[in-house]
Amino acid sequence: MRVPVLTYHAVNIAGNDYATNDHVALASDLRTINRLGLRVVPLQWVVEQRLGLTTRDLSACVALSCDDGSDFDFRDLEFREHGLQRSFFNILGDFVSEHGAAEQPHLNMTSFVIASPEARAHIDRGALDGRGWMSEDWWPEAETSGLMTIGNHSWDHNHPAIPAPGVDGMPRGSFLDVDNEKRADAEIADAARYINARIAPRRSRLFCYPFSHIPAFVHDDYLPRRGADIGLLAAFGDGAVPVTMASDIWNLPRYICGWHWRDPQALCGILDASAQA
Ligand SMILES: [Zn+2]
Repeated sequence: MRVPVLTYHAVNIAGNDYATNDHVALASDLRTINRLGLRVVPLQWVVEQRLGLTTRDLSACVALSCDDGSDFDFRDLEFREHGLQRSFFNILGDFVSEHGAAEQPHLNMTSFVIASPEARAHIDRGALDGRGWMSEDWWPEAETSGLMTIGNHSWDHNHPAIPAPGVDGMPRGSFLDVDNEKRADAEIADAARYINARIAPRRSRLFCYPFSHIPAFVHDDYLPRRGADIGLLAAFGDGAVPVTMASDIWNLPRYICGWHWRDPQALCGILDASAQA
């Protein structure tokens, strides 16, 4: 297995071309992936394979994720001077409408959302425009649509837009400060409980580290010990290599749009490299 995991941020909207807009990039990348004869599969399939729970043929496959769970993941919205933005969810739907459901029968993107409503309200005001763009009402519909899966991106991202301190006196702005049981329970287990209650009877199975910060306590101790109880199968960082059977289950690698690639040619390079056995 050598599956590249591609990651997008729906609030990366600084213009309306590939380099400045992750929505434009995703729409283009889906067509590139399809043209190259690659299959998009749910991120959870990659994890299940890595864990030995399944023996699917995942050769020539790609998985998709997106982070932070703003409403731009799910609904079309006007953004500042850049106008109407097609949501990631609707970009996936557009692909199905254009090519038919059989072309990419397992097309799916995992949306890693922030659980806490208070945290989302602060982020909405502090990092967006205070327009209510960090809601949760779309999570169940996304989850049951078959096109999106809801993942766990922590309780509050320990985001700098949220009043300090966090639980147990934690300073804001870095996930590396999640360095003990109390903080990890608050950031990971509480988030799982909240998200799972909203998408029940489904459950979030995957965690993604905020800021791609991998605290040693969480990675080495907390998740290996507590992950299964919380319902988590794996956690994702930003390693920028394909997922293989040797990948670290509590720090699975992903490629980030706008960082690890900025144009379709660079994406082709990532996809070509992943195809080499
Ligand atoms: Zn994030």
